[in-house]
Amino acid sequence: MNDKLVIKNIGMILSGKMEDPIFDGNCLIAQDGKIQSWGNESGMNTEDAKTTVDAQGVTLAPGLIDSHIHPVVGDYTPRQQQLHWIDSTLHGGVTTLISAGEVHMPGRPKDIVGLKAMAIAAQRWYENFKPSGVKVHAGAPVIELGMVEQDFKDLSEAGVKLLGEVGLGTVKDGKTANQMVEWGRKYGMQSTIHTGGPSIPGSGLIDADMVLETKTDVVGHINGGHSALPDDQIICLCENCTAALEIVHNGNERAALLTLNTARELGKLDQIILGTDGPAGSGVQPLGIMRMVAMLSSLGDIAAEMAFCFANGNTARRRELDTGLIEVGYSADFVLMDQAQHTPGKNLLESVQLGNLPGVGMTIIDGNICSHRSRNTPPAQRLPQIV
Ligand SMILES: [Zn+2]
Repeated sequence: MNDKLVIKNIGMILSGKMEDPIFDGNCLIAQDGKIQSWGNESGMNTEDAKTTVDAQGVTLAPGLIDSHIHPVVGDYTPRQQQLHWIDSTLHGGVTTLISAGEVHMPGRPKDIVGLKAMAIAAQRWYENFKPSGVKVHAGAPVIELGMVEQDFKDLSEAGVKLLGEVGLGTVKDGKTANQMVEWGRKYGMQSTIHTGGPSIPGSGLIDADMVLETKTDVVGHINGGHSALPDDQIICLCENCTAALEIVHNGNERAALLTLNTARELGKLDQIILGTDGPAGSGVQPLGIMRMVAMLSSLGDIAAEMAFCFANGNTARRRELDTGLIEVGYSADFVLMDQAQHTPGKNLLESVQLGNLPGVGMTIIDGNICSHRSRNTPPAQRLPQIV
């Protein structure tokens, strides 16, 4: 079986790597869904491809990753009674989603055997069914009082590798939360926390002290979801955390810029990752990750090629995923995009740094073309074509 994919006439390759964000080359080859090589087409073997894409000069980047979503089942969210929100998100260039808890499940079980069962089921149904091809890492139980080490061992052995946002359940103190996060970590489970004020009636405040005491792998929505902590606490978290500093679309935009500027001063931009925190009270945001890249690049004065790294490579590294970077053997997950029509700036990067969204022309996941011209972004100047 030949599952060779050739993408030629690429205008620019964004790597996802902050230390080297733009790679040389106009051609990329994937084999059996994995990146094999890239460079100048003249020196590459582009024969015998099953699929050849003529990029028509547009930019190729690793598919974007949303580090913070709240899925429930399939491509439906009961939170806003919305269908096909994941497909819409794919049209925003996002190829991987990471659950911060399936908290919008109506009647969500909070007893321990029930929450474990739901986490295992959620992990399975998204492993077995990828909406429109999008990779959804789900099965992220919210910790509740009464859980013991054996529960985390059971969950991990059953395939659950994430913990949902600490603080959304009955565990409200840092000491208990840290004990459970450490149990999870012992069995290979990543953790995140609800930083900031309550999101909806029934949730609570998590301040900087609790975040520091709990020591999750991700400081979930450091800019609030929705309500941000006071500035001094956000600065304190940036100074004291080695965890990922996650900025979300559903948070406070001023606090997002404070986080970015503080992280830059501290030399910690490699810790910045992005999420939407949708579906939520503010709806779903199919272009949320793109909008954050443009917002942070323009208002935060970060080169667009660096801001894109917040949305793919940084998250991939922090989340230990085999996507989000142009790297041999990594998943062939890409977004092909171009400067949107009638935007100022000489090229895609300049237009994004001026605050404009790019136009998405194609997405590819595991070497398979999953969408063509986006129905959601502004139209791109040029569109890739299958040869
Ligand atoms: Zn939250």
